[in-house]
This record gives sequence, C-alpha cells and structure tokens, in this order.
Amino acid sequence: MDKKEILKEFSSDSDRYYKVKLFEEQGFVRKACSKCGRFFWTLDSGRDMCPEDADDTYSFIGDPPTTKRFDYTEAWKQVEEFFVKNGHTSVSRYPVVCRWRDDLYFTIASIVDFQRVMGSKVVFEFPANPLVVPQTCLRFKDLENVGVTGRHFSSFCMIGQHSIPDSNGYWKDECVDLDFRLLTEQFGIKKEEVVFVEDVWEGGGSFGSSLEYFVKGLELGNAVFTEFQGELGKHTVLDQKIIDMGAGLERFAWITMGTPTAYDCCFGPITNHLMQKIGIESDSDMLKKYFTSISKNLEIYDDLIDVRKHAVSSAGLTDDQVRKIITPLEGMYLIADHLRTLIFAIADGALPSNVGGGYNLRMMIRRIRGTVDRMNLKLDIDELVDMHIDYLKNTYPELDSKREDVKTILKIESQRYVESKSRMKKIAKKMSQKDRAPTVDELITLYESDGVTPEYLKEINAISEIPSSFYAKLSDLHQSDKKKTVEQLSIEGLPETEMLFYKDDPMSFDAKVLRVIDDLVVLDRTSFYARGGGQEPDYGTISGSKVIDVNKHGSVILHKLEGDIPKEGDTVSCKVDETRRSNITKNHTSTHILNASARKILGSWVWQHSAFKDDDHARLDITHHSSLTKKQKQEIEDAANDMIKQDLSVTIEYFDRGTAEQKYGFRIYQGGVVPVKSVRIVSIEDKDIEACGGTHVKKTGDIELIKITRTKRIQDGVIRIEFVSGNTAQAYVNEQESALVEMSEMKKSKEEINREREENKEETRRIIPLIVEDFLKKNSDANDKKIIWNDIHLEKTDSGKLCFVSSSAYDEFFHMNLGKQLIKKDSSLVYFGIFEDNNMSRIIVYAGENVSEEKNARSLVTEISKILGGAGGGNATFAQGGGKNRDKISEALSKAKSMVLE
Ligand SMILES: [Zn+2]
Ligand SMILES: [Zn+2]
Repeated sequence: MDKKEILKEFSSDSDRYYKVKLFEEQGFVRKACSKCGRFFWTLDSGRDMCPEDADDTYSFIGDPPTTKRFDYTEAWKQVEEFFVKNGHTSVSRYPVVCRWRDDLYFTIASIVDFQRVMGSKVVFEFPANPLVVPQTCLRFKDLENVGVTGRHFSSFCMIGQHSIPDSNGYWKDECVDLDFRLLTEQFGIKKEEVVFVEDVWEGGGSFGSSLEYFVKGLELGNAVFTEFQGELGKHTVLDQKIIDMGAGLERFAWITMGTPTAYDCCFGPITNHLMQKIGIESDSDMLKKYFTSISKNLEIYDDLIDVRKHAVSSAGLTDDQVRKIITPLEGMYLIADHLRTLIFAIADGALPSNVGGGYNLRMMIRRIRGTVDRMNLKLDIDELVDMHIDYLKNTYPELDSKREDVKTILKIESQRYVESKSRMKKIAKKMSQKDRAPTVDELITLYESDGVTPEYLKEINAISEIPSSFYAKLSDLHQSDKKKTVEQLSIEGLPETEMLFYKDDPMSFDAKVLRVIDDLVVLDRTSFYARGGGQEPDYGTISGSKVIDVNKHGSVILHKLEGDIPKEGDTVSCKVDETRRSNITKNHTSTHILNASARKILGSWVWQHSAFKDDDHARLDITHHSSLTKKQKQEIEDAANDMIKQDLSVTIEYFDRGTAEQKYGFRIYQGGVVPVKSVRIVSIEDKDIEACGGTHVKKTGDIELIKITRTKRIQDGVIRIEFVSGNTAQAYVNEQESALVEMSEMKKSKEEINREREENKEETRRIIPLIVEDFLKKNSDANDKKIIWNDIHLEKTDSGKLCFVSSSAYDEFFHMNLGKQLIKKDSSLVYFGIFEDNNMSRIIVYAGENVSEEKNARSLVTEISKILGGAGGGNATFAQGGGKNRDKISEALSKAKSMVLE
C-alpha cells in the first residue's frame, strides 16, 4: 500500500483523522508547510514551515527550551512519574533478544514486546492497559551514522506508551493530550514550541493515522493510531484498535540538556572519562556549531561524507582540528554506544557469532577494537562495562548481576579479533594491490567469509571510506534468516485429536478410527506421542499392527502403520511401547537438567539452541562461545547427576501466555516460540522452568543417571552435548569400564584422533591468554605467598617464584603455551608443568630471563627427570624431559619447589 495515498486521503479529512480535543481546546491552527506542503498543527500562528524545514531546527543545541536539565536516567524518571501519575502501569523492559518472535532476532520497537504471532496473525497481549515501558531497542541499519551524526544509536530506549481503547484504556484525544502535557507540564517546554505533524503508519496489513511531535525541529515521539486493516478504500476497522506511541528517551534528555550531541547526555560518566583519556580539549561553541550543522543537513545530503564536509566548513574547522577533535570524538562516541548495546544484548543471552543476530554483535566488537587500535587507545574495557552498568542500573537493575558474563564474552571475542588480524592483513594486502576500490558486495563477502571488517581496511588505509550502504545491506542479509518454513498439510474436516498423553496417559487404550489415508491412521483419541519439540514419537501397536511413526499436523495426529490397516469407523485397541516411551521420557527430562546444569557451570548466555530425544540416545545443543574442555564437560555431568540425586519434583502447570511470561520471564522459551495462548510450564522445582510440550518424569530421581558421551562445537556459538540416561547410561558406564574401552579407542580412526586434538588445541589457544591475564592480575595484587587459580598454582618466597600445573587435564600443547606466555610477562618466574602422556610422566619447564642463570631450566629438568627415571634436555629458559615413574609425580613436584623456592 502506498503511504502517500493514505496520507492524502486522511489529510483531506483532517477533522476526522487528526483533529483531537486538545487542538480545539488550546486553539492549535492547522497549516501546510510553505516548503514541503506537509500539514502540521501549531499554537504559533507565525510559523509557516514544518519543524524539519523551519529555521529553528536544532536550535536547542546550546539553548535548551527547558529550565530543568535531565540526563538519560533522570529523563526516564520524569516520563515514568508522569505516566504513572496519569493511570499507567510502568512495565519493565522486555529482553532485547526477541525470544517470542520467530521473525526477529532483536526487539526493534516497544510494540514488539506485546505482539505474539498466531499462525499468520499478529495478536496483542498487554500485561496492563494503559502502560508505559522503557524498551531498549536494537537497530543496526544506521551503523555508519553512529558516533557521527550526534543522534544515531545502535540501541536506544523507546518510551512506549500503549493503550487499547476500552473501559481502562483510551484513544486519540487522551493520548495526544497526555503527550502534550508530558512535554509542557513535566518537562516545562513552552506550549508554542510543540508542533504536531500529520502522518500515517502502515505495516503487516493494518494502518492508521499518526501525529509526530517535534520541539525545535527534533522529533521526540510519534503517536500511531492503528485502526484499520485491508486495502485503502475497502478497509475495515480492526477488532482491536491500538495506540502505539514511541518516543526516544535519548532525545528527551538531549532537548533538556542542549549538548552538542545526544551522546553527551546519555552515557553517564563515560563520555567525560573518555574525553580525558583521549585528551580532547572540547571547545564547546565550536562543537555546538559543528553538530548543529550536521543535524540540520543530515536529510539534505545523500551522503554522510558530504554532510560532514559541509559541517567542517560551516564551523570553520581546520584539518588539524578535525583530526585532533572531531575524529577522536566520533570514535569515542562509537565505543560508548556499541559497548552499551553489547551489554544489553549479552546480558539478555545473545552471543557474538558468524550467524544470524550474533553477526551484528561480532561486527560491533570488531568496530570497537578497530577504533581503539586506530586511535591507539589504552582502554580498560572491563572498567567501561562497569561504568555503563553502574549508570544504567538505575533504570535497568537486571543488568547488575550480568556484568561478569558480559566481560567474559567481550574478552573472548576481543581475543578472537586479535588472532584473526594477521590473516586479515594478508587478505587486505592482496586487495590493495588491485587497481580499484572494492564494491559493497565485495566488502560484504570479505566480512562474511574472512571476518575482515571495513573498519579494519580503513584503519590500514586499504580503503579510504566505508561505503554508506554497507551496514544497511549487511543488516538486510541477516534480518530474515530467522524465518522458518512451515510445512503445509491440512487434514480437511477432521476434529482435533484428543491427546491422552497430556491427560491420564494410559499405555493401553481403545479408540475410534476416524480416517485412513494409505498407511496413515487418524484416531479420535491417542496416547501415542507425536514427534515434536525434538522428541521422537512413540511406537507400539494399533489393533496388532506396528506403529512406526507418529506425526502431528495442526491438531490432528497421524499414526503410520505397518501391516494390516484398520478401516474407518473401527474401534481399535492400542498399546504404546512402554519401555521406549520411558527411555525417551528420561532422555527428554535430561535435556532440561543438562540445560540448567550447563547454564550454571558455563554462564547465563547458555540457552537451548535445539534438542533431539530418541530412546537410546539424545542430544542437546546449547549456545556457548567455545568448545567445552574435559573439565567443563565433567562439571556439567556432575551438576546434572546432582539434580538427579536430589530427586527434585517435576511439575506441570498451564498458564495464560502473558501470565507465564510475567511470572517466569522469557527464559521459558528455551524450545523456541510457543504459538498457543495457554502455555504448558514444566518446572524442575526452581532449577529449570521452561515452556514444553514433551513427556517428563515425575521426579528427577527416576532418571537414575546421565552420562555425557561426547561434546563438540557444531557451529560458531553452538555446542552439541550428546548424552545417554537411565539404563542406557548404566550400560554405557559398564561398557566404559570393561576392557572393551581400549578396543573401541583403538577403533577410533587416526583422523578422528587428530581432529579431536586439533579441536582442543584451538580451545587452548583461546583460553590461555585469558588465564594469563587473570593470573597475572592475581599475581601482582595478592600479598599471598600461595595462589591457586583453577589448576594453576603460584608460590612465592624471597628466593623465587614458581608456577606449576600438575593436573592431568592438560597436555603438552597447553603447558608450552602457558609457560612461554607467563615468563614473557613475568621474567622472574619459573614455570613447571607435569603431566602423563603415553604411560610416561613428562615435564616442561620455562625459566624467566631474570632467573634463568640461577634457576636454569635445563638443570631443573635434568634433576627432576632422574626422579622420574628418565632424562631430558633443553636450554636455560626452556627444557623438557620425563620418565617411566608415574608414581613419582609428587616427589618430582617437591623437588621442583625446593630447587626454585629455597
Ligand atoms: Zn516542510
Ligand atoms: Zn520438556
């Protein structure tokens, strides 16, 4: 539908569509802009241009139209106070990761919070009416504008004011009245400054009129009145009309502060902190001039580069000033903005990756890193995360408990970026040898397949500018990935099958045959669980014939039979294979247990990605940033078996979807979106609460045992946990314990062994820098003479410093990498690693430069290898050796201690 046509139609009858009570009461006049023709409503009879064309556009920079000043946090307090005072419920923000919609990764508007997709229809579920919500929204389309324009953010707070006109809610008159009073009474803006512009909104088959409200040329909010559906002219009124007023909190703060950019008043203490770091002497008047020009001209020029050029000349900036002030400022704003978005996204469970929504997050981390490198900044990202969260927790207290998780993920991702740099360098070099600049598509390919960001290319001067359409194109590519294809198969005229497995669940029952389609049988009622939610179907017999598959189409269940097929109208006796069902049920419940355990051991970013439950094996795919170490795998298994030992109750309750979401949060959507109004909530006491339609044991003790058989990284950000439970797990353990183990180990192909080793190596490479960093922090901070960090020990005396690792969980590759890096950072340190390898005890020793004369690595290895019954060799800083005496490890360790520490 053409928006212009709707606007024309509505504006031709403005009394009906736009004239609200407020306009009449206050004496607003309706005018057409002398420049663009748009209709607007104002109390200032002298105003003849719309807010965007008028001369006062952005004149609030340096001259705010309010007497009070509110930053981001305070601005929300004002908005909230006003709406609550006026009968609204203040609702906490919803997650920025949009778990309740199949077609969106991230929450892009406040109204999305309340939209639920049922089949092809969008329905609205409001937890209160009317309400107001400070919804953090993520949008990646304008990434190249962020930091540059003064008003674009990768995430912003949309003040959502929503109402359904019924006995509690209101419609246009009250909405516009409230918005006007919010600006004039609560924020103290002069009535004459508020201008409403006529507009329309359309999307998803519905449309309606809207009034955008501006102050000094800045659009603060847009009140949309969703009222109609269908084609214009043939349209009908919606059953449920809705007010969708969205306003930008950052802009509310900005208009009261009048700072050069909105960034200056929305990141709390970070902006000043960064300004000091960079050493910018910010000449305020000059910046005001510059950013006012940027703001005014953003819509006039097509290209941001031209807007910038124009602003530079109109503010009279020299090249030197641009280089020393503007460019660093832009970088600083970018860092603050991107970091804030990453905090919200990671805190809500999203992980950076190379697929789907994780893509944008990785891109932002790389943009931060690239900017930091280009500006040659020494920034402590952890400190910035703390500053952001300390500031944001006034409005969003839930972020407080996630700060360590956020830091962990950012650290891992930064490390990956550093690792990929040398590869990027090679690719970039090749590229700059070409005689033309790369196209946008080529840049996208470079990023998609090699992770080379345009920021990086700019940083090393391989390209001069980032094409402005790059981010929009990239964002488009990854926007629609999430859409699922729905299999269409309708069973005409059949009633819903009565699902006995959700009731008393008899293993034997009689039923009536309603329809036969080839070898598929539809019954009036069934206990056969149909394949769904990753759970495999039940088998058994129907009137003696084998049931070999069961599937659900809509709410009709089809049983696939082998052998004689009963006739329509027959009454048949049915038997479910109880053993199979019981095994599947245990495996299914185990996925809940393992999911909770993995989250507990690894971090809050763990979500179920997908799951598969058959009778003799099952798997759970979780979101996690790296391959699992042996230790993590063991800890998850232990935590899971702990839950079994505790014999926790598994309870099932039905809730209205909105109630369930409010009560338990969006964590319930582990298995994905639930397209029904009544949600089946499965709780393992307070340890795991999910919406789930599968079959579950009554007590966790019924599962007896869970064994993880294998874990592997199946895609970036997704780890597969393969496992067995119950009797199968017991059998697995017995098999492991028997001599067969070695046989099956031998059967492992060389390739498989190599691949496993490679996987571990990659993991080691990733975690060692993190260990080193954390370890050195502890090394320098503590007065302690003994420090233990995971399996790494440090002992200090006046005569020496020894770091040792004797856990069997680590191999040669680990020790060599860790030792080498530690002595590089601390040259008075000796590293001693001891481990078993091929029935041998092996040692690896590194001695730091400052001590290698006195505590020579080779002499240490020679001495200690004697104890182990072997020999060794090397030089003063690095040596290795070992021997056959595997029972002499502790003796070897004491020898090492005495040689280094005494
Ligand atoms: Zn105009
Ligand atoms: Zn379940």
